[in-house]
Amino acid sequence: MVSEEIIQAEKKHLINVLGKKLIDSEERDDRKLVIINGKHLRGYNALARKYWPEEFERADKEHYRIEVHHIDFDRSNNRLNNLVVLTTKEHVNIHLLFDPKSEEKRKKISEVNTGSKRTEEQRKNISESHKNIKFSEEHKKNISIAKKNVHRVYHLDGTYHYERNEEQ
Ligand SMILES: [Zn+2]
Repeated sequence: MVSEEIIQAEKKHLINVLGKKLIDSEERDDRKLVIINGKHLRGYNALARKYWPEEFERADKEHYRIEVHHIDFDRSNNRLNNLVVLTTKEHVNIHLLFDPKSEEKRKKISEVNTGSKRTEEQRKNISESHKNIKFSEEHKKNISIAKKNVHRVYHLDGTYHYERNEEQ
């Protein structure tokens, strides 16, 4: 599991990011869908592109995604001062660490990971099924190397993907 220390560090980083990107303006845009450069965008995406064009340009050039986040977690509050642009990873982490609605999901994820939700029967079945799998020594070595070099990044729906750890 992710340690409390890492979570605190991530929280600090995200608060920093939010503070830097915030623009204090009451401008809002509630149009449901607009088309810019042939792309269909939600109104708040269009507004974000207008105020943070260089962020979007850089993302397009370097082929990573940026997303618009609602600071108060209310997607109907499209005032500019409620919007920030974040990388996908920052966005996922903000919801995992700060969104009150994620609290319940986070608990479920940690229960599944620690196995505390599993019944005695399920536990037995899992260990039985592992007995019949014969991994080669090389495969076992590869698994343990892979485990050391990656960490899980959780999505809001409880699924996850693996990302390489940053170089020390
Ligand atoms: Zn968001």
